Amino acid sequence: MASRRYPARQLYYDGEPRPSTAKRFFETIDPSTSKPLADVVCASPADVDAAIASASRAFPSWSKTPPAERARVLLRAVALLRARNDQLAAVETHDTGKPLSETSTVDVVTGADVLEYFANLVGGGGLNGETTQLREDAWVYTRKEALGVCAGIGAWNYPIQIALWKSAPCLAAGNTMVYKPSEVTPLHGQFLAELYTEAGLPPGVFNVINGGGDVGSYLTSHPRVAKVSFTGQVSTGQKVASSAAGGMKYVTMELGGKSPLIILPDVDLDIAVDGAMMANFFSTGQVCTNGTRVFVPKSLQADFEKRLLDKMQHVRMGDPTDMSTNFGPVVSAQHLEKVLGYIRHGIEVDKASLLCGGLKKPAAPSASADMGDGYWVQPTVFTNCKDSMRIVQEEIFGPVMCILTYEDVNEAVERANNTQLGLAAGVFTKDLNAAHKTVARLQAGITWVNSWGESPAEMSVGGWKMSGVGVENGRRGIEAWVRNKSTLVDMSGAVATAFSKL
Ligand code: NAD
Repeated sequence: MASRRYPARQLYYDGEPRPSTAKRFFETIDPSTSKPLADVVCASPADVDAAIASASRAFPSWSKTPPAERARVLLRAVALLRARNDQLAAVETHDTGKPLSETSTVDVVTGADVLEYFANLVGGGGLNGETTQLREDAWVYTRKEALGVCAGIGAWNYPIQIALWKSAPCLAAGNTMVYKPSEVTPLHGQFLAELYTEAGLPPGVFNVINGGGDVGSYLTSHPRVAKVSFTGQVSTGQKVASSAAGGMKYVTMELGGKSPLIILPDVDLDIAVDGAMMANFFSTGQVCTNGTRVFVPKSLQADFEKRLLDKMQHVRMGDPTDMSTNFGPVVSAQHLEKVLGYIRHGIEVDKASLLCGGLKKPAAPSASADMGDGYWVQPTVFTNCKDSMRIVQEEIFGPVMCILTYEDVNEAVERANNTQLGLAAGVFTKDLNAAHKTVARLQAGITWVNSWGESPAEMSVGGWKMSGVGVENGRRGIEAWVRNKSTLVDMSGAVATAFSKL
């Protein structure tokens, strides 16, 4: 095999890296150069069975381990994640193309924060049930019990963060997990599994299998899987949720969006421009919650666009491992084609006005010897967009902002809500009343006022409408990983029977 930056990535179950029975491999690619990074072992159905069997064997003991002891193990993993932040961030940068300036400050950090949050939550009694005194000699109590073997399926944009956002509440609640990263960015999987083992997680509690949709489908429809937590596209989520429904499995679905960002007339325009840029160009636009429909008052359009064009000069494309770079390539050749296809459609069919960016390969990284074949695209802004345009209606998942103007806030809110998706939404204004009133009317599960994208461990996040089912993070996040048992205890010494002698 040709030389690779990383050794071949294995499957991981029973607490160790494992080869595949099928001896099939696929490559993971560095998007900034298009060069292979590692060969990745692809799981066969027999491998998935073995990983599930490993998770099943580990479940009885892990679920009975006292929450405080589970928390102690998970907190050791948190310490290891923080100690290895830069090394793991580099793995993510190589695999996703996202700048190290992002991955070293966001991806591993926010993953570790969530693991710490759920470890502390369960260690501090977060899984305690309720007791209700019914009568003097009778009461009801509830217990929150782990579900069993859970499947985690990841998308490619925030690989280790997604793996941690799923495994943290799952393992803290006493479940075991078989996790399948996206086949586009699988590098982190084995690193994370090894780190959990080093922290003291018993063999079989966290397992990793690699592969594409066929492997994901086999895992999520497996009869021994009690719950599926999925992050990905709406169309894939529909398939996964349908198959899970047949087996009455618990599901969490974190899916796509086309989120509206509404700028109110009283706004501080510089703040709004910063927000709109973060909502469109962070992670090269590959963020599920991106605010890609930017509603601007007609009277502010010219000023907004002028300030936006000024600030676009601060987008710095280049070697993603250079800490001054703040804009990387998109993740794959296939995704580059998709994003360029939307930009072409915006220009040629939708006939939106191109304010900046477009189809031309960006000059700087493309001219470099190493990065010339990378998947680079210009950050692109369309203006004078109409609600009916395809670029306004469909998730592009790339650095493409659509500016839409409005005359009246009610009209803006109505248009913002006129979509099947409901992941995120937000408003920029100095008027607190207007902010709360507007946010209250927006149909989305994740909303921001004068901010965009921050998703701390304490904040429950999840989509409305076609954007998903359930939430991750926050206190409510743990509920998705337990089932409730209610017990009525009667100590009166007699059963109130309907069948006594007359
Ligand atoms: P995708 O749906 O193509 O793939 C997601 C995962 O599903 C991959 O691991 C893939 O191998 C697996 N998969 C594919 N077919 C499957 C099947 N039939 N059964 C089981 N698993 C299957 O999504 P993607 O392109 O990797 O990710 C981008 C999408 O993810 C975007 O739509 C984005 O908005 C969404 N996303 C949502 C959130 C959120 O929290 N709401 C976060 C990140 C990304």
